[in-house]
Amino acid sequence: MNAPIAIIGTGLAGLSAAQALHAAGLEVQLFDKSRGSGGRMASKRSDAGSLDLGAQYFTARDRRFVEVVQQWQARGWVAEWAPELYHYNEKGLLPSPDEQVRWVGTPRMSAITRALLGALPVHFSCRITEVFHGEQHWTLLDAEGQSHGPFSSVIVATPAPQATGLLSAAPKLASAAASVIMEPTWAVALAFATPLETRVEGCFAQGSALDWVARNRSKPGRDGQLDSWVLHASSSWSKQHLDLDKEAVIEQLHGAFAEMIGCPLPAPSFSLAHRWLYARPASGHEWGALADADLGLYACGDWCLSGRVEGAWLSGQEAARRLLEHRQ
Ligand code: FAD
Ligand code: NAD
Repeated sequence: MNAPIAIIGTGLAGLSAAQALHAAGLEVQLFDKSRGSGGRMASKRSDAGSLDLGAQYFTARDRRFVEVVQQWQARGWVAEWAPELYHYNEKGLLPSPDEQVRWVGTPRMSAITRALLGALPVHFSCRITEVFHGEQHWTLLDAEGQSHGPFSSVIVATPAPQATGLLSAAPKLASAAASVIMEPTWAVALAFATPLETRVEGCFAQGSALDWVARNRSKPGRDGQLDSWVLHASSSWSKQHLDLDKEAVIEQLHGAFAEMIGCPLPAPSFSLAHRWLYARPASGHEWGALADADLGLYACGDWCLSGRVEGAWLSGQEAARRLLEHRQ
């Protein structure tokens, strides 16, 4: 039982589990196919400053998450974001203020996962392709053919479609993951040398190619000379245009933004597009986490709960709780 625990995925779910296990005195080793942590909470450094291309903000409704977000705030990892909110639909663009508390990582969304990772041991640029159990322990195989192990348990903390194959040692877990449909989101960033003449800082949209836009500079702690905006296409538009090339995606979403924003839109001095293939589960679940505790195989992620940042954190906590409970 002394071998470390492998955690595949350094998004918020994997790091939430890692923190809980580390705090309980267990050794963890993390793996991620990307070059850094954060997953769908990652931020991209660009000529237009740092851009949150995935999660835009988050809310905290569960008491446990509310408490942890307060600790993150005290450490300076997050701050409240109170944008001037609008709503866009067939009636046009209208102010839509509310009382909801919304949080963002500071100075960028990825600050949270970076701080949670701290000095925990991690292999980046390491895509795990196989997870198998030998006589006593687990071994992981990566895309370069290298093996990693031995591990006493494995937590798979990737989006459901990427988890299915990694869970094949526990067919029930694999089929639960396989049943989850995850929908794509096209994200576009546009940056303007002259600030746009609008009060909009965040806008929910319906009946448009877009379902959300945010003004980057309205978030606390953001830098950058340019007035940069992040636009998210709706799931249905993203599905219909899944294989469109990036230039065409930028052009079409720029057009939808021009229709929505109601002020002159100059040509952007910077633009980029990013496709999130597994952006959000088509529906929520109430699994918390998936576990075959006798085998020592677990799965967590936003798709086990609400498909939001809060769900990812809670799911990681639940995977860790079930693992610790089994070891008592
Ligand atoms: P992820 O963040 O996806 O982490 C999984 C990690 O696993 C990734 O780092 C990935 O690289 C790694 N991985 C995958 N396969 C392998 C493999 N084979 N080997 C090694 N590593 C692997 N939520 C909100 O609450 N508010 C929002 O405003 C919001 N907006 C969003 C907008 C967009 C465009 C997107 C995409 C998501 C948004 N979300 C939002 C959802 C939120 O980002 C997610 O719920 C949350 O970040 C998911 O965390 P996770 O740890 O479950 O998964
Ligand atoms: P929230 O309470 O701010 O928003 C939930 C939903 O309520 C919004 O999607 C919007 O439809 C509506 N809403 C909230 N405030 C509004 C207002 N002032 N005016 C008009 N409509 C309003 O936040 P949450 O529950 O934490 O949800 C997180 C957000 O993340 C959601 O907007 C969700 O769509 C988004 N998300 C996006 C993706 C993606 O891939 N694009 C993935 C996961 C989550």
